[in-house]
Amino acid sequence: MTNETLLEVIGLKVHFPIRKGLFSKTVGHVYAVDGVSFHLRRGETMGLVGESGCGKTTVGRGILRLVEPTAGSIFFEGRNVLSLSQAGMKSFRCNAQIVFQDPYASLNPRMKIGQIISAPLHIHGIGTRMERRDRVKFLLEKVGLRAEHVDRYPHEFSGGQRQRIGVARALAIQPQLIIGDEPFSALDVSVQAQVINLFKNLQNEFQLSYVIIAHNLSVVRHISDRIAVMYLGKIVEIASSDELLEHPLHPYTVALLSSIPIPNPHLKRKRIILEGDVPSAITPPDHCKFHTRCPQRFGPCNQMDPEFREVAPDHWVACHLPFKKDDGS
Ligand code: SF4
Repeated sequence: MTNETLLEVIGLKVHFPIRKGLFSKTVGHVYAVDGVSFHLRRGETMGLVGESGCGKTTVGRGILRLVEPTAGSIFFEGRNVLSLSQAGMKSFRCNAQIVFQDPYASLNPRMKIGQIISAPLHIHGIGTRMERRDRVKFLLEKVGLRAEHVDRYPHEFSGGQRQRIGVARALAIQPQLIIGDEPFSALDVSVQAQVINLFKNLQNEFQLSYVIIAHNLSVVRHISDRIAVMYLGKIVEIASSDELLEHPLHPYTVALLSSIPIPNPHLKRKRIILEGDVPSAITPPDHCKFHTRCPQRFGPCNQMDPEFREVAPDHWVACHLPFKKDDGS
């Protein structure tokens, strides 16, 4: 990993309009992503975690402009992705690829593996037919499959193998950034470990940078250099994986961590069960969005927005708690 910033996301918002009636009048919005900022260094892996519906997948899709952001900026190698021309977007899409969650649904069952992996090369007009076929065979071997699989169909492979095919497709045009949208969650635990190792090996070999989206902290901690925790459309804490696991500050991160089993029968961790449901992203609570469920809430939590502040080197949190005074204010 280098100190050079590859991707910088500033104040990203993705609001989906809710339309009703004969004239599709906008009657409200789903505030799926509501002001997300972070940066990714070249060669780094950032884990983006949170419960279902917190907006983490929309962040990934917003970065790649698979959904159009409502506001904010996304800089990739210093260029604002949101103001790129069509040609600029084509080149950005060569550099930034996505691996989807569901290895069963993400591959066209009517296409051979060779056609699936070479599709991005086709779209971008890269190589001759023979060169593309050679590249597909090279990639199949890189992801732990065999070159002769090139003429097989997706149904002939297991879930883990299909996810490897998805990775090979993402690598076809030599991207610098891969966004993994829950790439491990549909896999059995034993296969998960193999695919995580594959991601790590490919990162070293091809100097890739990753944003790995997951709902399970115990999975992303094995692969991430830093972890960002999301709640209801906002990042509430970012730190290095070790720092976040050893010194979590945001009560939501503490609750997420409390649900990870400890692999030692003599040690016990107190499980924190959060009260209530996640509030609706249509009418999120004012100020700290977690205050309706937070076991530590106090005076200012429902009166002032908690600022996203650096409380230790490279450890950022949006919570009033670390600044609580002795008089409880
Ligand atoms: Fe809890 Fe208050 Fe921190 Fe929000 S700001 S997480 S309510 S302590």
